[in-house]
Amino acid sequence: MPSDLETHGASIALRGLTKKYGDVTAVDGINLQAQPGEFLTLLGPSGSGKTTTLNMIAGFEPITAGELLIDDKPVHALPPHRREIGMVFQHYALFPHMSVQDNVAYPLRQRKIGRAERKHLVAQALEAVGLAHLGHRKPRQLSGGQQQRVALARAMVYGPRVLLMDEPLGALDKKLRDSLQLEIKRIHAELGTTFVYVTHDQDEALVLSDRVAVFNSGRIEQIGSAKELYERPQTMFVAQFLGESSVFHGIAQPSPSGSAVMSAGGMLHAVRGDVRPGERAALVLRPERLRVLPADGPVPDGNKVRGRVTQEIYLGSSRKLEISLLDGAPVLARESFGAASASRPGDEVWVTFRPEDAVVLPVPASTEPGSDDAPARFEPDRVQAATPPTTQQMKA
Ligand code: ADP
Ligand code: MG
Repeated sequence: MPSDLETHGASIALRGLTKKYGDVTAVDGINLQAQPGEFLTLLGPSGSGKTTTLNMIAGFEPITAGELLIDDKPVHALPPHRREIGMVFQHYALFPHMSVQDNVAYPLRQRKIGRAERKHLVAQALEAVGLAHLGHRKPRQLSGGQQQRVALARAMVYGPRVLLMDEPLGALDKKLRDSLQLEIKRIHAELGTTFVYVTHDQDEALVLSDRVAVFNSGRIEQIGSAKELYERPQTMFVAQFLGESSVFHGIAQPSPSGSAVMSAGGMLHAVRGDVRPGERAALVLRPERLRVLPADGPVPDGNKVRGRVTQEIYLGSSRKLEISLLDGAPVLARESFGAASASRPGDEVWVTFRPEDAVVLPVPASTEPGSDDAPARFEPDRVQAATPPTTQQMKA
């Protein structure tokens, strides 16, 4: 990559940032900091406030309350073009009547950059996105992926210190998305620019980002590296939005080892958790952390719950087992090909796991047993702690 496009990325700080449209609070007092040169992703479902946040940073939407600082300076009063931010949208937003070169040169013309330097920078930007040979074409003569590369070249050509991208790969098919993800990652590393990237695709967020901020209903649920979010989710929303989870519902219990849940299958322990004893809670871990053992074989000490395998899903290098617990709640286990147990649908099994792999989380009202999308019905009074079920009970 030629050095002329390199920049020192700016820091971005959002403090209590809020956006209201009449009665609708689109963004609800979020706090977020991007380090210079960081790749920060805003991940969340549709309508969670990602685009609104990006538009406030870019200056396309005035903020309702809070603070927005770029390199520690408030930018509220600056119009978009004075913020030195590049932006890529989901729909390429290229000028259809201009050639690729002229599209990319546009921000340089706006900034009154001379012809010779313009030519040089455009060539470098097109080179960086692998389109050096297509500069004379019009946008309609390019594929979707190529058009998005042009949009990226145009956003970075003048060396902005921040690049904002709003679902830039959302309109492309999966294969193209995968290859462009790697390209965006490479360009980020070479430019040094701070990237703020919006997506609703968790895999994309995990591939690209230094850190991910998980949005839900205008708020941020958790910010962290992919590994932190995956292994240490702090809310049920994060656990379930990012990757798959195995969930055991019950009532939080005090435990010397950390946290515990009284579930239908008995007391289950986790090393981590921040819940009040007596409140509805779920013990959560990742499906690949569960071990499935035959009901009549030896079982290690520690967490164990009886269940019956109800479904097997073959996935090539791994398989998923859906296991129905005593209370009928399903739990998911994933076994890699080499470590797969012999369990088959219909088999009674022990589900076991280490307390180190699990976390106990409070269960928000909307996912509590009894509500419409409740995963399980569970009445703690009817449970006998840690007593393995008889075959009759299993069949009941
Ligand atoms: P996302 O990008 O995460 O899908 P948005 O930021 O686009 O979410 O929207 C967040 C919320 O704000 C949604 O409820 C949306 O309907 C609302 N919203 C966005 N833009 C406007 C607008 N111009 N007027 C009214 N409501 C809006
Ligand atoms: Mg959006």
